[in-house]
Amino acid sequence: MKIGQLFDVSGKAAVITGGASGFGLAAGKALALNGAHVTLVDVNADALARAVKSLGGEGLHVASAVADVTDKLAIQDAMDGAVKTFGAVDILFANAGISGGPGFLAADGSRNPATQIENQASEVWEKVLDINLMGAVKTIQAAVPQMKKQGAGRIIVTSSCSATKTEIFVGSGYVISKAALGHLVRQLAHELAAFNITVNAISPGPAATNIAGGRMKDPQAAELFSRYIPMHRVAQAEDIIGALLFFASPASAYVTGAEILVDGGAVLGIAD
Ligand code: NAD
Repeated sequence: MKIGQLFDVSGKAAVITGGASGFGLAAGKALALNGAHVTLVDVNADALARAVKSLGGEGLHVASAVADVTDKLAIQDAMDGAVKTFGAVDILFANAGISGGPGFLAADGSRNPATQIENQASEVWEKVLDINLMGAVKTIQAAVPQMKKQGAGRIIVTSSCSATKTEIFVGSGYVISKAALGHLVRQLAHELAAFNITVNAISPGPAATNIAGGRMKDPQAAELFSRYIPMHRVAQAEDIIGALLFFASPASAYVTGAEILVDGGAVLGIAD
């Protein structure tokens, strides 16, 4: 088989949550550029409109739907809209997520009392678990009946290198939400294998997207995080595209329950 056929996603219908920004937008652009029919879903209506317009300016026409992934009816509506428009959901990128606030250490190594476990607000934990974990569950629930009907489907979840390693500058609730997502992927991969639906995870390291108020776009913050990454740089949104096209295309037909780390070696240990 030629490489072009192996990674072919043309004509496939793809739904991407968190599609207005960062990894979701980069994924939407890559899939549309390669001939997929893309629906971007996001809770931020303004950012979504801007994303659709900017892709349109590059000749890439995508559909969109405003929905909060924690709202089961809203995400089902968005999924049904995508099916109505494109006739299928071949590829689902359950990617929407938020930060869970700062970690137990500040940039200068000090311990802010507010970020220590005994003082962390339950609301922060509940919100990050609700969006990052339950939002992905609800998104997958909305797509699976259609995928079963099709007799095929590709589910890709954005996890994080935080699912594997502990963090000092990243809130604990976030880390736990991603660890849970990592196992959700394996559990659902097992359940859905019999239906020819694969479930895999992309686990990026710290990236210069808009998460956490876009803090990684600040050169000082990027430099701080880069010190702990063997490849000495934070990720750009486009760094996930190779892994995404692999999991979305025939190249990964026999791969399920897998994770690709896109983290510059962040989980490997102390950077030199
Ligand atoms: P981003 O903020 O640029 O994009 C996230 C998008 O998700 C935004 O457009 C936002 O509006 C949307 N969103 C947030 N809550 C939503 C909700 N309830 N319903 C629907 N949409 C919602 O950030 P990003 O870095 O591209 O984040 C994408 C995914 O990548 C997240 O799951 C995040 O946890 C994960 N991730 C990010 C990093 C990083 O350092 N940037 C590292 C590892 C994993």
